[in-house]
Amino acid sequence: MRIVVLGSLNIDFVVRAHRLPEPGETILGENFTTTAGGKGANQAVAASRLGAPTAMIGRVGRDTFGDMLLDSLRSEKVNIDAVTKDGDAATGTALITVSGDGANSIVVIPGANATVGEPELDALDGVIKEAEVLMLQLEIPIDVVSAAASIAASKGVVVILDPAPALPLSNELLRRCTWITPNEHEAEILTGIPITDEDSVAGAARRLVEMGANNVVITLGSRGCYCVLPEDEFFVPAPRVAAVDTVGAGDAFNGAMAVGLAQRRPVKEILATACEAGASASALRGAQTRSP
Ligand code: ADP
Repeated sequence: MRIVVLGSLNIDFVVRAHRLPEPGETILGENFTTTAGGKGANQAVAASRLGAPTAMIGRVGRDTFGDMLLDSLRSEKVNIDAVTKDGDAATGTALITVSGDGANSIVVIPGANATVGEPELDALDGVIKEAEVLMLQLEIPIDVVSAAASIAASKGVVVILDPAPALPLSNELLRRCTWITPNEHEAEILTGIPITDEDSVAGAARRLVEMGANNVVITLGSRGCYCVLPEDEFFVPAPRVAAVDTVGAGDAFNGAMAVGLAQRRPVKEILATACEAGASASALRGAQTRSP
C-alpha cells in the first residue's frame, strides 16, 4: 500500500436547517442524510479516489453502522483488512447541523475510535514497509498517534499529521511528523497566535517550526494555504468556487497532498493540486460526498 491512514471512522448524521437552533430551542429542519465520515476514513477515500493504493487502519463497532462504513470503504477501493470490530464500543458517530449560510455545529461521539490502540499499531508495523505516506489525525487517542508517527518515522515513511480536532501537541510529536496541516483555527490553538492577516498566518506557521515541526501547511479556506519549508515559504491560492459545504475540504486537501508526496512531485505543484481538491470538495455536499 502506498498510503496508509490510521484514524477515525464515523457515521455522520447530517441535518440541514435554515439556521442553527439556539440552546433549548426546537426548530424545523429541511432534510436529513446519513453519510460515511470520520477524518481518517474521509482522507483514505480522498487518496483512493485519486488512484493511490490506500489502506485504512482503525476500529468500528460490531453494529449496523460499522458494517455500513466497511461496505462504503470497500466500494471506494480502500483496503480494510486492518479495520477491526470492537465487541463493546459502538461505531463512532457525528451529529452535524448545517445552516442555510453554510455554518455548522458538530457533536462527535468517538465510540470505537477511542479504543484504537496496540492492535492497530501492530497492524501499522505490518504494512509500513510497503507504504510511502502515513496520514494521521487527532480523532483517535493521541498516544497512539504519537506511537504511529514514531513507527513511520523510524522507517523513513512520510508522515502527514492533520491536527484536528485541535489539541496541544508535544514538540516530540511535531518533530516525528514530516508535515503538519492545521487549518487557521487549529493553528491558533496550537500556537496561541491569533490569526487575523497574512503576517499572523506566517507568524503562526514559523512558530510551529520553532515548536519542532518540519514542514507546515496552514489551510486558509477559500484563500488557499500558506506553506513553510526549512528553505522557503509561500502562499498557494485556491481556485474560486461557489462553496456549498466546506465539511471535508481539509480531508480532500490532505488526501491529495498524500498522493502528491507519494508520487514525489514538487511541493508547489502538490499544494496547488491539494487546493484544487479542497475547493472541489467545498463545492459538493457531504464529507465523502456520497451516502454509504
Ligand atoms: P478544513 O476543512 O480542515 O477547515 P479549510 O477550510 O482550510 O480546511 O480547507 C482546506 C482547503 O480546501 C483550503 O486550503 C482550500 O485550498 C480549499 N478550500 C476550502 N474552502 C474553500 C472555498 N470556499 N473555496 C475554494 N477553496 C476552498
